[in-house]
Amino acid sequence: MFEDLIKELERMGSQPVSVPIDSDEQGYIDKQCPSEECGFLFKVNEEDWAKIFKDKAVWCPLCRHEAPADQWFTVEQVEHAKAEALAVIEGKINNAMQSDARRFNSRQPRNSFISMSMKVQGGMKRTHAIPAKAAEAMQLKITCEECKAHFAVIGSAYFCPACGHNSVTRTYADSLRKIRVKKDSVGVIRQALIESAGKDEAELTCRSLVETCISDGVVAFQKYCEGLYFTYGKIPFNAFQRLEHGSDLWYQAIQKGYETWLTSEELIELNVLYQKRHILAHNEGIVDANYINNTKVNNYKIGQRIVISDKDIDILLNCLEKLGNGLKEACEIV
Ligand SMILES: [Zn+2]
Ligand SMILES: [Zn+2]
Repeated sequence: MFEDLIKELERMGSQPVSVPIDSDEQGYIDKQCPSEECGFLFKVNEEDWAKIFKDKAVWCPLCRHEAPADQWFTVEQVEHAKAEALAVIEGKINNAMQSDARRFNSRQPRNSFISMSMKVQGGMKRTHAIPAKAAEAMQLKITCEECKAHFAVIGSAYFCPACGHNSVTRTYADSLRKIRVKKDSVGVIRQALIESAGKDEAELTCRSLVETCISDGVVAFQKYCEGLYFTYGKIPFNAFQRLEHGSDLWYQAIQKGYETWLTSEELIELNVLYQKRHILAHNEGIVDANYINNTKVNNYKIGQRIVISDKDIDILLNCLEKLGNGLKEACEIV
């Protein structure tokens, strides 16, 4: 009586339901970092996923978690696949029962005293899965300089998902971009805070936001130098946090110091900003004798608190950009 249903159940045991995944309008498919702490959402070019990515390992662009390629489905894709698999299985069971019922009913002898018929509710149902829809396209598209894989993220990324490569130069450009965004957003943040928390809160928060731009820049440049320098030799602890020490190290490695790319005024200004960062980090921004000795131009007396202006951040970004570009070229040439 239930031949078709039994056959269908046997078939289902050996044929898994496959649920397709759509790419977005730019040809990218959604992926998600399987690390529980991370869960970073990103996209990879569909063609590259087939050709460049390896089954054995994929890396998270944000945290560099490593896992085989079949572990990078997004939570949404998994939920969708579960629902679709259920719909397909229900459809197949339903349709097999419909055809069993039809056959059973057609075999009933006519004109007999007792007649039996079998009825299955509902009509035929779909037995194919609807593809998982792609999330909205992401603006920031990145091409790995090592393996040429294309991927897309929101905000920023440090590692290539196809080969795990850490791009020192891209990370540095990204950090400088973030500092600029932070500086440019201060006005909007201040306005929002004045309305929600009051003027005092707004002023305090915005001041510390502007001050962090300086340390962000110093740290970004330090990491950048460390990333470029490691092939030339050992780096003394935090050497690239100090301008002169860093410049000396570069001179030893490539016979070029920071004066190659910055004018003497720029070097003096940059040094003041490095000293300001030091005093913010270690003396709560209060000027001490060291600060006076270490800065060649100085408008402060001991005991004053230093101020970071928008212009300071512009100077810092301008100098760091010049140094970054100069070092990149010099390292590639040598
Ligand atoms: Zn991750
Ligand atoms: Zn790569």
